[in-house]
Amino acid sequence: MVTSVLFYGIEAWGYLKLKDHIELVHTSFLRQYLKVRKSTPLIALYGETGRLPLSYIGTLRILRYWSKLISLPENRYVKVAYKDAYELYQTKPNYSPWCSFIFEALSQISMSGHFTFQTLPNPNDFYTMARCRLFENYKNEWKTEIIDFSSLDSYVKFKPTHGLEEYLSIVKDKRHLIALSRFRLRSHNLAIESGRHRNVQRDMRFCVFCDSNQIEDEKHFLLYCSFYDELRIPLIPLISELTEEDAFVLLLHSTAPHIVKLVAKFVYQAFKKRPNLA
Ligand SMILES: [Zn+2]
Repeated sequence: MVTSVLFYGIEAWGYLKLKDHIELVHTSFLRQYLKVRKSTPLIALYGETGRLPLSYIGTLRILRYWSKLISLPENRYVKVAYKDAYELYQTKPNYSPWCSFIFEALSQISMSGHFTFQTLPNPNDFYTMARCRLFENYKNEWKTEIIDFSSLDSYVKFKPTHGLEEYLSIVKDKRHLIALSRFRLRSHNLAIESGRHRNVQRDMRFCVFCDSNQIEDEKHFLLYCSFYDELRIPLIPLISELTEEDAFVLLLHSTAPHIVKLVAKFVYQAFKKRPNLA
């Protein structure tokens, strides 16, 4: 419903930079859905929910409209108008921004030949292929770009690919669900994150709840901190035979409902046990 309002007429105006503004509505919704802070990187919001920036969906809609347009009979008014724009594009591309947009969009998915020759053997096949390539492009970009976010260094260990997380539908207790989302996306107050906001050097962000002298990051919180030993008991049989890395990944990457629920419950209870240090 909201998307159809945001996208109204996008086939005509979607090539403008204006379309970036609709993304603010989208990301604000995703933040509310996951109940995470404003500072949570957008790339993590997209990754966790399996969503793409709306600009990708908008581009796809424009390409679908273009495929219908060039398949129309030559005497249709809209086709005549398009032919004018295309002729202008051939001599002065900058004066025909809509056509330039179509060419650029198709070039990025290695399908510009259709624009060059203005032919489409089958509009449905074209749409399916364009959709598939556009989405693949984004998923590959996501994988490359997320590595550059130092605040997501733990996240990339248990979230290797873009896609809707199953825990979002498995965990039914809202409190547990919110705790798990916040924990995964570093929208929490562990020292690794709160220290970042207070400009504490990364290797000085120690845990104050135990005497281990370890950095309080997600791994320490989930696997080691003695302050939560009692709460961690249900998790121990799952990880006792595993290495540190494997245990961490298993607990946060698993889609087995009983594991997901146990982890969500642990995170909720452990967050709750922490005194408010603010
Ligand atoms: Zn600790």
